[in-house]
Amino acid sequence: MLVRSVYAKKLKNSRGEETIEVIVKTEKGVVNASAPFGKSRGIHEANAFVENVEHDVRIINALDVRVLDIKHRLDIIYVEKKLRGKIGANSMLALQLALLKALAKKQGCELWQLFTRRFKPVRMLGNVIGGGMHSSARKPEFQEFLFSPRTRHMGKAVLINKKVYSIARSLLKKYDPRFKGKKNDENAWETTLNNEQVLEIANLVREKVKERYGENVDIGIDIAASTFYDKRSKKYVYENVKLRKQEQINFVARLAKKFSLLYLEDPLHEEDFDGFAILRKKLKKILVVGDDLTVTNTERLKKAIKKKAISGIIVKPNQIGSLIASEEVVELAKRHGIAVIVSHRSGETLETGIADLAIGWHADFVKFGVAGKEREVKLKRLIEIEKKAGV
Ligand code: PEP
Ligand code: MG
Repeated sequence: MLVRSVYAKKLKNSRGEETIEVIVKTEKGVVNASAPFGKSRGIHEANAFVENVEHDVRIINALDVRVLDIKHRLDIIYVEKKLRGKIGANSMLALQLALLKALAKKQGCELWQLFTRRFKPVRMLGNVIGGGMHSSARKPEFQEFLFSPRTRHMGKAVLINKKVYSIARSLLKKYDPRFKGKKNDENAWETTLNNEQVLEIANLVREKVKERYGENVDIGIDIAASTFYDKRSKKYVYENVKLRKQEQINFVARLAKKFSLLYLEDPLHEEDFDGFAILRKKLKKILVVGDDLTVTNTERLKKAIKKKAISGIIVKPNQIGSLIASEEVVELAKRHGIAVIVSHRSGETLETGIADLAIGWHADFVKFGVAGKEREVKLKRLIEIEKKAGV
C-alpha cells in the first residue's frame, strides 16, 4: 500500500487567501503538496473548492487510504473518478500532486521523472512590471510585463531575470515620478505609467541588459483583457479611452510590432476566439497565447485549434483540477505545434511540484515570476533539476 495516512489542512497563500495542503505518509517518509489561487480567473475555470476549503478538508480527512493506492502515475485517474464532484479543483490538484510525490519517493526517482526520463530545459518568462488586477491601483491595465532571457540554461536565465528586475526598478525610479518601489501580488513592480510607457521602459531594460551583460532578453505581455473588458458596451476600458474589438486588435498589434514582442497572452476577452485568430494571423512570428480563453481545458483548446486562435497555451493545473486533464492539454497542444507555457498563479504557496510538472511535460516555457519566496522556490527547483540532470 503506497499511502499509510492522508491528512488535509487549510493553508494561507501569498495573498493571505485560504487554500489547501495535503500531507501523505508513506513507508518511505512524508510528502506534502498544496494548491495556489488565481485572482484574474477565467470564468470557465473549475471551482477551487466544493462549498469551501473546510468542506474539502473534511472529505479528504475521511478518506479510506485504499482509494489512494496508486502504482503508476496514470492511476491517479481512479482517485479522480472516485472524488470527482466531491472535492474542488484545488483540493484535487494538491491530493494528486502529493500522491505522485509519494510514488516518486517509493520508486526512488524525482517527481518529474515519473513523466519522462529525458531532461529538456525550458525558457523562463518572469513578471517584472505589473498592473491590472494584481496591482493596487489596477493600473496600467495590462497585467504583466514579462521578460524572457533567450537561453535555455535555466540557472543563467534566473540570474539574468534578477538583473532585469533590478534594472527595471532603477528605470522606473527615473521615469515614473510617482514610483515608490512598491511590489504587487506577484512581486512585480507597481507603476503609475501607462501600458505603452511601460513598454518603452521594458525596451530600455532590454537594451541595458544587452549593453551591460551581452545577454538577449525578449519581452512579453499578459494583457488579461477580460479584466478590463466591459461586456455591456463590448469595449475594452482604458484610463482615457474605450476601444472596440477591432480597435483593440489594432492597438495590440501595433504595440507587438513596435516593441518586437515575443509573447502576447490574452490580448482579447475570454470568449473571443475569432479575435484571437485575427491577431494570430496578423502576428505570425509572435506567440499569441490563451490563458483565460482556454483555462487548461481540452474542449476549449480543441475550439482554439479549430479556429486557429492561438500559437501558445498557458497550463495551470488548478484551472481544471486534474493532472490527467492538464497532461492531455499539453499533449494535444504539442500535436498541433502550440507552445506550452506552464504557469504559477498570482496567489502562490511554497509548492515546487509545478516546476517538476513543467520539466516532466517538456514544456516550452515556465511563467513563475522573478521575486518573492513563493516564486523563488520554484526557480530554485528548476535549477536543482537542471544540476541533477548534469547540464
Ligand atoms: C495569469 O493571468 O496569468 C495569472 C497568473 O493570474 P492569476 O493567477 O491571478 O489568474
Ligand atoms: Mg494570464
